[in-house]
Amino acid sequence: MPPGAGPTEVEWAAAVAAVRDLPPDGRVQLICHVNPDGDALGSMLAFGLGLRHRGVRQLRATFPGPPEVPEPFRGLPGLDLLVPATEAYPDPDLVVCFDAASESRLGELVDRLETAGTALVLDHHASNTRFGGVNLVDPHAAATSVVVEELLARLGVPLDAGIAECLYVALSTDTGSFRFEATTPAVHAMAARLLATGIRPGDISRRIFDTRPFGAVRLFGEVLGRARLEPAAAGGHGLVWTYATLDDLTRHDQRPYVLEALIDSVRCTAEADVSCVVKQTGPDGWAVSMRSKGAVDVSRVAVALGGGGHRFAAGFTGHGTVEEVVGSIRAELGAALVTPGPA
Ligand code: 5GP
Ligand code: MN
Repeated sequence: MPPGAGPTEVEWAAAVAAVRDLPPDGRVQLICHVNPDGDALGSMLAFGLGLRHRGVRQLRATFPGPPEVPEPFRGLPGLDLLVPATEAYPDPDLVVCFDAASESRLGELVDRLETAGTALVLDHHASNTRFGGVNLVDPHAAATSVVVEELLARLGVPLDAGIAECLYVALSTDTGSFRFEATTPAVHAMAARLLATGIRPGDISRRIFDTRPFGAVRLFGEVLGRARLEPAAAGGHGLVWTYATLDDLTRHDQRPYVLEALIDSVRCTAEADVSCVVKQTGPDGWAVSMRSKGAVDVSRVAVALGGGGHRFAAGFTGHGTVEEVVGSIRAELGAALVTPGPA
């Protein structure tokens, strides 16, 4: 298969067969990546609803780590499929993984790749390591939900409003509400198919993107107030960064997921190509989000530091102090330059 190409017809056929050939009471375990975002959860729940439509009864969805669904996603259809990771089937007939570029994104559930009868991987990361028995990986797809929609169609599952809402949340999340480069005519055509089921984009978008607790508004103010701009970094293309600690969350009585939206406020900075938010997850652990406007391939930075992602959006797990984590990023920016610095 040429690099960068989507799934082959053989791979599509193998994925369809994996579902079609399930035993009558086959158990299916759906897993999306740790700290699930809209694409991970939406893709997984849409596929779950599709399998339910096909009559699959023994069906569970989960993700590694604490079983806490971020508030914006608590209205998603199909949430009744969700179980804590501890209640995932130990040896399902079929496991399906969503939006995970590598096995490490499955956390403590990684062993299901071995214990399951068949492991099917649905993803759109160019860095995907093809860790399933059957892999549907399309690096040109704007979201994993694009792959899910096609597989559901090939399985003969019609789009209903529930499936459409999940897919719409996934698609609009990963395209930044249809603003990013990946927003092709095909993406808008898919959005049109989803909207035709009668789902309400205004309500959905307000819930997903434009609602947060007042405590989070004040927390954002504090964290944005300590942002630093380094114009000389990244060969003169500039770096802007900030951080949030567990203590910040405690003082404002907020849950960690509220910090996911922070990067969108930081990456507005005109003077920096690369933006970064360093979010504390433990005494020595940091979840790092990076964004680029194109001069730097942030997935190269992330991979060099043990993570992954895409050219314009990537992340990794950092250790040490904030300064050490930012220092490690700064040190990788030069090697990740796509275009030379300004003269
Ligand atoms: P975000 O900053 O929104 O959490 O993630 C941006 C992109 O980077 C996503 O596509 C995600 O797949 C990837 N990413 C974020 N954190 C990690 C990580 O710790 N490991 C890997 N492999 N990828 C990550
Ligand atoms: Mn995705």
